[in-house]
Order: sequence, then C-alpha cells, then structure tokens
Amino acid sequence: MALRKKGRYWYGDGPEDTQVEVQRYSKSNAYVATRFAASACTCGHRSFRLESDEEAGAARRTCTACGSVHLMGDSAEYADEAELEGHECVCGEETFELLSGVALYTDSNDVRWYYLGCRCTSCSLVGVFADWKCEGGDADAFLAAV
Ligand SMILES: [Zn+2]
Ligand SMILES: [Zn+2]
Repeated sequence: MALRKKGRYWYGDGPEDTQVEVQRYSKSNAYVATRFAASACTCGHRSFRLESDEEAGAARRTCTACGSVHLMGDSAEYADEAELEGHECVCGEETFELLSGVALYTDSNDVRWYYLGCRCTSCSLVGVFADWKCEGGDADAFLAAV
C-alpha cells in the first residue's frame, strides 16, 4: 500500500508511509530530512499520546500500553520552558505511531531540523504534526532517543 489523499489529508499504512510524508513535507521546508527513526516504548509498544511545543522545541510521548512518559530527542533540555500541548487527530482520536526525521548540516552528522511525523492508529492519517530548528547534535544519538 502507499500514501493516498482524501480531501486535504494523507493516509498511510505504516512507518514507511509516514516517512514518505516527512520527506515530502521537509522538501517544502528547504531542509530535507535524510535520517529517520520510529519511536518504540521500552515495553515494545509503538502507539503514543503526543504533546509538543514547537517554540521551545520539545516533545513528549506517553505510551498507551504502559503509561511510560518519554521526552523525545533532546527535549529534556527544553522541557522546563515548554508549554506542551496535546495533539488530536482530525478524527478525534489521540493515539499515534511516531516517526521522527532529521535534516543534517552539510558534511556533518549533526541535526539541523527536526520533523515529528505521526500516523493515527484509528483513521491512518499521516502528517508532520510538529517541526522545529533543532541543535540536537549527533543524529545517531538523537534518533536513538526519540
Ligand atoms: Zn510502554
Ligand atoms: Zn485519526
């Protein structure tokens, strides 16, 4: 299966489709995402409630299976000043699979821009729900913490 458009929105079947949407979105932002990672809870579950603050550059996910709360990427550094707001899908549900993408500085492995891709586990809508300029350092370490 692949991405399909219904009205204003895109829908997909899994992380691969979310990644395509993150790439598409990032190209229109000039900093193209080239590295990606899907979020998984320490319990193995992959659906989360999501809160973020683009101004502060912080996102927090809560596992819908075990309730574990995690600050994504380098968000712990900015969480104190963040006003995190929950995300809700257009269908009204609040549970998402998360696929992070980062754009890197030229000739570097350092994060330049962060994209937070989501796929609704209820209606399969995919989209970038948040993105921000991010000095997250080494992309491998950053993506290991999403
Ligand atoms: Zn969990
Ligand atoms: Zn939905």
